[in-house]
Formats: sequence, structure tokens, C-alpha cells
Amino acid sequence: MEVNCEECAGCCIDWRAIAPEPSDHERRGPREPLDDTYNLVALTRDDARALLDAGLADALTPRLWRDEDGVEIDGVPLSTIDGKPAFFLGLRKPRKPVGPFGTDSSWLPTCVFLDPTTLQCRIHDEETYPTECAEYPGHNLKLDHETECERVEESFGGNRLLDDDPPEDLSGFLFGPQAVGQKVFVFPDPERLSGVVARAEAGELTADDRALFVAVAVSSAPGTTRVAEDKFELALPEARETDSWAGRAIADWEERAGEAGTEAPDSELARRVEEERGAPETPGWDE
Ligand code: SF4
Ligand code: SF4
Repeated sequence: MEVNCEECAGCCIDWRAIAPEPSDHERRGPREPLDDTYNLVALTRDDARALLDAGLADALTPRLWRDEDGVEIDGVPLSTIDGKPAFFLGLRKPRKPVGPFGTDSSWLPTCVFLDPTTLQCRIHDEETYPTECAEYPGHNLKLDHETECERVEESFGGNRLLDDDPPEDLSGFLFGPQAVGQKVFVFPDPERLSGVVARAEAGELTADDRALFVAVAVSSAPGTTRVAEDKFELALPEARETDSWAGRAIADWEERAGEAGTEAPDSELARRVEEERGAPETPGWDE
């Protein structure tokens, strides 16, 4: 597997608003995400733990799925495992001023950790770098699913996927029962989600809501639907007290941003919004 990521970040940005033909690739199949995020990075339990330990829990957000055969909370039928709501934990995607694939800067939902000026990841090679990002698009290649690299090639030309042999060793390749408690989490106490699900559906989750899911994910027992109560009680206040550069930058972007796909200021604005708040800088492509 070899990819050409310079000036791309197609897998870190929801660029459908500037695509010639928008895709609904994440909205196919029987289960429909409640959120409207695309290219959600599904974090492992260890990724979530590393992000919580690094004081970045406020960069995380859950994904729940609508499923007519599931359990109903706040009038929304949710996908379940053993009768309890199932969820992914992903990274938040505020609209930022970015110009991927050589386009002019526009407001596009962009991973909290993407540096808009260089289109590089601010946590690359850090302990917090998600497994799925490190291995992308390995899973797609292994499963023979279209990659984001190919979608970018189709829409904007250029060569992105240079070698499509799947890597032999995919550590984050979790499926079926072994994914439970490691990548697909189970919320142990559905009643606690009363009100939360309505806010999730409306795209209005609060910081406390998001922290609940972080605490469940890091306290989950791999391969099971169990959540360690003592770990959960320790993790919840830690997640709720998190106040990182990432969370503060997201709040700032949310105030500034225009509609997805509309003209945006120069991405250099990120220096003020993100780096002056403590975001790690990225080297740029010349190095
Ligand atoms: S879509 Fe492919 S080429 Fe583009 S940044 Fe992601 S991995 Fe790299
Ligand atoms: S963590 Fe980094 S590589 Fe992964 S989606 Fe975000 S910016 Fe992209």
C-alpha cells in the first residue's frame, strides 16, 4: 500500500460539498448514523484511552445508529448489542477553512486534528494517533471497498492510491464479536441516555454527553459487552473536566464557520484559532 497524501487530506475532511458528485458512502445499509459526519474515524478503546490521558477527551464524539429493530430512546430506535445501545467513538469535525486538492479555501467539516494550513495531521506519530488513521486505507483494500483516495482521484484527478496491495498486518482489523468492547462499544445503562439521544439526533450533544461515551469506551472490557464500573466512575469526571486547545478551537470554529462548501478565509486563520491555543504545529510538505 502506498498513498500520495500531499495537498489531499481527503480522508480527514468531509469534502462532499465541493465534490462534482457527492457520495453517500457512509449512509448505505440498514443502519443509519444519527450524526451527519462523513469519514468518521472509529477509535479503538486504546486510542480513546490515549486521548483521554493526553487531555484531549473533548475532541471525541460518539456515533449511534438508527435501526428500526433496535431499542427506542427519546423516540429514536437505536442499534443494539445484547439489547443495549451500540456506538462508535470518533473525532469531532468542525467546519474549518481548508483548500484540499488545490481548491480555494472553503468551510468544510474537518477533523479536529487536521492542520488547515498544511493539510497534515497534528498528532501524526504521537501516542494519540488513531490506529485507523495509521492504517488507512488498509482496511478498505483488504475488504475490496472503494478508498477515499480513489474517490479523490475520480473527483479531482491525480494519483493518490499508488499501490493497492493491502498491508499484511492490520492491527486495527477488528470485526464481529472481537470488535465489541474494542471498537464497537455498548452503553450499559440505556436509561441514562434519555435526552442524550434526542440531542444526538439534533446534532446538539453537550460536552457532558460526549464525556459519558468516552468514559464508557475506555472502561469497556475487550470482546465483551461489560463495562468496569470503577473505571467508568474514574474516567467520567476526567473526561468532563477536559478543557483542551482542541475543544476550545472547535468552539471558536463553530462561531466563525459559514455553510459547508462556502468561501472561507485563508486557512492561515488556524494559526490564531488553533496554534495560539496550543495546537502542535506540523512540518509542511517541503521537509
Ligand atoms: S484520501 Fe488517501 S491520499 Fe488522500 S490523505 Fe487520505 S490516505 Fe492520503
Ligand atoms: S487524526 Fe489525523 S489522520 Fe486521523 S482523521 Fe484526524 S487529521 Fe486525519
